[in-house]
Formats: sequence, C-alpha cells, structure tokens
Amino acid sequence: METFDIHNMPKPPSPEEMAELLEKAQKEYLAAMEKLTPEERAQAEMRRQKIIEEENRRLQNIVNDAAKVAAGITSDRTPKFCTNCGAPVSGGKFCTNCGSPL
Ligand SMILES: [Zn+2]
Repeated sequence: METFDIHNMPKPPSPEEMAELLEKAQKEYLAAMEKLTPEERAQAEMRRQKIIEEENRRLQNIVNDAAKVAAGITSDRTPKFCTNCGAPVSGGKFCTNCGSPL
C-alpha cells in the first residue's frame, strides 16, 4: 500500500496543457462519432443533450438556493432600520446612529 506523499502530488495542468487536453478529448470524441452509424450518432447526441440539460437544471437549482439563502439573510437576519431611532442599518450588532442593540 502506498503512503500519501504531498511532494509526489501531480502538478495541476497549466492553461496550455488544459487546452491541449480539451483538444485531445474533442478529437477523440469526434473520432468516436465517426465510427457510429447515423442512428447511433443521433442517440449519442440526444444523450449528450440530456446530460447538458440535467447539468443546467442542477446548476439552476444551486443558483436558486443561493438566491433564497441570500434573500433570507438580507430580509430576516439583518434588520434594515434601527427599531429604536429608525436610522438605516448596514449590518452589525448595534445601531451606528444611537447605539442600541439590533
Ligand atoms: Zn438607532
């Protein structure tokens, strides 16, 4: 069993290497597509579209959740005005105008 050695960690690829890897993946994808029949190609394309749609939906949910959390923080946790003097409040535990706890 190998022990974990931080000095033997693979280096993260540089932007050039990433571009090369992406290009290689793209070429392999196109080469694989070449070997398929038109029906298989259409099916593969449909599967790809479905994966992209699902990924977009998942990302949209994350964005929606983040927006809900952000809305909850601004509307519930941070009062907008001091309940004592009515001065606008921009976060913090005490009113910057009259010093009363918020
Ligand atoms: Zn106040």
